[in-house]
Amino acid sequence: MIFQSVKFEKIKIPNGLTVKCVLRADGLKSEATVPYGTSAGKYEVSCFSNFGLDAAIKNFPDLKGKSFKTLNSLEKEILRYDSERFVKIGGNLVLALSVAFLRLKAKLEGKELFNFFSGKRVPNQLGKVVGGGKHAPKGPDFQEFLIYSDKPFKHAVNLNKMFHKRLGAVLGVKTLDLEGGWVVNLSEEKVLDKIADLRDDSFPEIKIGLDIAASSFYKKGRYYYKNRVIGGKSQLDYVNGLIKKYDLFYVEDPFHEDDFDSFAELQAKSKNCLVCGDDLLVTNPDRLWRAVGKSSCRAAIVKPNQIGLLSKMSEFVKDCKKNRVQPVFSHRSKESFDDWLADMSVGTKMMKMGIVGKERESKIKRLSKIVF
Ligand code: PEP
Ligand code: MG
Repeated sequence: MIFQSVKFEKIKIPNGLTVKCVLRADGLKSEATVPYGTSAGKYEVSCFSNFGLDAAIKNFPDLKGKSFKTLNSLEKEILRYDSERFVKIGGNLVLALSVAFLRLKAKLEGKELFNFFSGKRVPNQLGKVVGGGKHAPKGPDFQEFLIYSDKPFKHAVNLNKMFHKRLGAVLGVKTLDLEGGWVVNLSEEKVLDKIADLRDDSFPEIKIGLDIAASSFYKKGRYYYKNRVIGGKSQLDYVNGLIKKYDLFYVEDPFHEDDFDSFAELQAKSKNCLVCGDDLLVTNPDRLWRAVGKSSCRAAIVKPNQIGLLSKMSEFVKDCKKNRVQPVFSHRSKESFDDWLADMSVGTKMMKMGIVGKERESKIKRLSKIVF
C-alpha cells in the first residue's frame, strides 16, 4: 500500500478533545479516532506526547510516498522516530494511524476489520450502572459499579439496559457520569445494597462487579476514602469482605498499580471472583508476565491506547489466553463515536463499556452486526 497522505485532525468528543487520523493510500481513504482516559495509569504510554497534541501532530513523521505491506512494517518505521513510550509523537496518533491502515487494508482485501484479530465469538457487555471516583467526584469512592450476564448477546444487552433504567428510578437520580453511569451521593456499600436488592427482586441472572480504580485514591501506603484512611492490609480485608457479602464475580484494580502481591493475595482468597488488572497491567505484555508469575489476577483489561502498538496489544491478548487470564476489552472515559474497539474485542468473552450514550452504543451496534 502506497501512502498518499496522512493527516491528523483535532476533534471534539463528548468529554474532551482528541485526534482523528485520515489516511489516503492506493486511491482509497480511511479514518480512525482514538479515545483517552481520565484515570489513566502511570505506566500507560504518553497518549498525546509529553508536549501536547499540537506538538505530537507536528512531530509525527511524514510518511507520504512510503509503502507498507503489513502493520508490522508500519510500526517498525514509526519506531524509528520515537521510543515505545511515544513521548514525542503520542501513542494515540500511532494507534489512530494503525487502525486507519488496517481499515484500508481490509477494504483492499475484501475483509472486515475483525478478520485481523483472532476468534469468532462476540463478547457480552460488562456494563456500568453507577459511577464514582475520578469519573464522578460527587459519587462514591469506587469508580465503577458493573453488571454482567451470560445470556445470549442481544438478550444480555437488553437486560443491562433495563437494569440501568430501573436502578436510576430506584436511586431517584438523573445525572450521568462520563461513561453513562448514574451519579449518586451514597457510599459504595449503600450503592452495592441497592444493586444487590434490584438483582434479587427482578434480575436473578445479573452478576455484580466493580472497578475500584484504587490508584486514584492511593498515596504513600494509604487509601484515602472520603470518610476514612486505611492501609494496604485493611484494603485487602475490606475488598475481600465485599466480594463475599455481595457475591462479586469481578473486581478490577482493588489495589494501587504497583501492588502485584496484594492482587495475588486477594485472588487466592477469592477463587470465584475474577480479580482484574487495568492500571496494574496497562495492556503491556511485560507487566502481564509479572502478574502471571505471581498469579496476581485472572482477568486483564485491554485498552489499546494504553500501549499504542497494536502488535503489542495482540501479543498481550494472546498471552492472556495462553495463561488463563481473561482479556476484557474496555473503552475509555473520553470516548469517541468510532467503533473499531468492537472489532478488536471479537474472540473474547466480556467487554467493559457504559450502557447509555452514543459513544458507547456505537460499539454495541457494531457487535450486533458482527454477532456470529
Ligand atoms: C477504567 O479505569 O477502567 C476507565 C475506563 O477509566 P479511564 O478511561 O478514565 O482511564
Ligand atoms: Mg479501570
